Amino acid sequence: MNFKVNNTVITLVQGDITRQDAEAIVNAANSTLLGGGGVDGAIHRAGGPQILEECKKIRAAQGGCPAGEAVITAGGKLKARYVIHTVGPIWSGGGSSEDELLADAYRNSLSLAVERGIKSVAFPSISTGAYRFPTARAARVAAATVKSFLERTASLEEVRFVLFSEKDYNIYRIAWEETTR
Ligand code: ADP
Repeated sequence: MNFKVNNTVITLVQGDITRQDAEAIVNAANSTLLGGGGVDGAIHRAGGPQILEECKKIRAAQGGCPAGEAVITAGGKLKARYVIHTVGPIWSGGGSSEDELLADAYRNSLSLAVERGIKSVAFPSISTGAYRFPTARAARVAAATVKSFLERTASLEEVRFVLFSEKDYNIYRIAWEETTR
């Protein structure tokens, strides 16, 4: 499924983020930057040790990565040339700025891509796995945030959302349909 915002094509696919041919893929990292389960584990397994080595250097320079922020490393053995590591919020009921922190994670990931001249970025469903953010609400935050970013910034050619399950794919499709209606 495709949508268009300004010059940028939004693509929704069901699949595995580690296999995407986008210039950058986004990792749903944790604030230690030292790897974890879910998307994070899959990216480090597929990309090899170079990614963790660069994450450790970033940790040494700035400490970890707080929720809402993003850092970038090379993609190692992945097809993607870069990995943007962002940290989503841990869901704790919705009254602890979770929506804002999730929006920051998407916005800061896109800003980093634009700064580096990257033209295509693939996102997983940040925060909706181990961090338990409700998927429909996360999908609405993702669509609204990405849309408003792209309305102001025209240099990206494609932003892709890669959903692991058919259920999540449909949730993101509906969120994008409602956001672009
Ligand atoms: P978080 O800790 O931010 O919640 P997770 O990695 O636990 O991140 O989960 C985020 C989402 O990514 C979940 O919907 C999960 O099913 C999905 N996911 C897990 N592995 C992959 C993968 N290889 N490609 C794409 N999505 C994945």
